[in-house]
Amino acid sequence: MMTVRRTAFTLAAITWFTAAPAHAQQSVLPADLVALDTPEGEALLVESAARADYFHLAGHHTTQETPSACGIASAVTILNALKVPAPLDDKLGVKTYTHGDFFNTCARTVFTPESVAQGGTTLVQLADLLRCHPVRVDVVHGEETTLDDFRKRLAENLADPTNFIVVNYLRSEVGQEYTGHHSPLGAYNAAKDRVLVMDVARYKYPPTWVRTEALYKAIRTTDLVSGRSRGYLAVAAAEKPPGPSGERSARSPLRILGGIVAAVFVVGFGLGAVVGAWRTRRKLRAYASGS
Ligand code: CA
Repeated sequence: MMTVRRTAFTLAAITWFTAAPAHAQQSVLPADLVALDTPEGEALLVESAARADYFHLAGHHTTQETPSACGIASAVTILNALKVPAPLDDKLGVKTYTHGDFFNTCARTVFTPESVAQGGTTLVQLADLLRCHPVRVDVVHGEETTLDDFRKRLAENLADPTNFIVVNYLRSEVGQEYTGHHSPLGAYNAAKDRVLVMDVARYKYPPTWVRTEALYKAIRTTDLVSGRSRGYLAVAAAEKPPGPSGERSARSPLRILGGIVAAVFVVGFGLGAVVGAWRTRRKLRAYASGS
């Protein structure tokens, strides 16, 4: 009887393993993008002079927990990579940053996890959330930088393991799907002019080498929520949290909708007044001419 049960269990296990997918269902990359886990991708990293950040990020590379949590996953990744003092995680029993621990009292005054779940974060919102932790944050909107300055910043920062870059970009400009996204950068290969995006949607895309010019165009696209261009954050450790900047360039979707409704009302009211005046004048002329 035991033999029959053991055989049945073994067959069930084999059936389960053969039925299970062999790997995560990541999207297929377009031909112009290079996955890190390919011979070409590995060579780009080996031959890169600015790759110090990659080795510090790799051990803390965090997967975003929800479709809108790419900014939070990027922030958690670099806070752990910077090794700044972290909160005690109740579930793990150790001091480390997680999606849940990231939202301390200060961060909740900037943006709540519920708000993030509804629509993600803008560049400025993510900077202010990070400033609730012991880091300095330099905000650079895409519209404020040139391609050459962007390359220079990549070469300097990605060779220095004491600071990190989180890029906010439109995926479609680098050959991926049409969504705004945040992810840390791992390395820059100046000779091939490609930069390694450590995608936090790890279930969807591997760490990917993209062309620097394409990423530059992607950070200069307009975020419809804030009304400003996307960009990048340069983040380094600080003695204590500086606190939110108070800048509120980001506008909520409701405020944008309210603005559109108000504009339509004003335009409609104005047109109605013009048409009304024209009709009144026409009637008066008709009356005056006796027709
Ligand atoms: Ca760096």
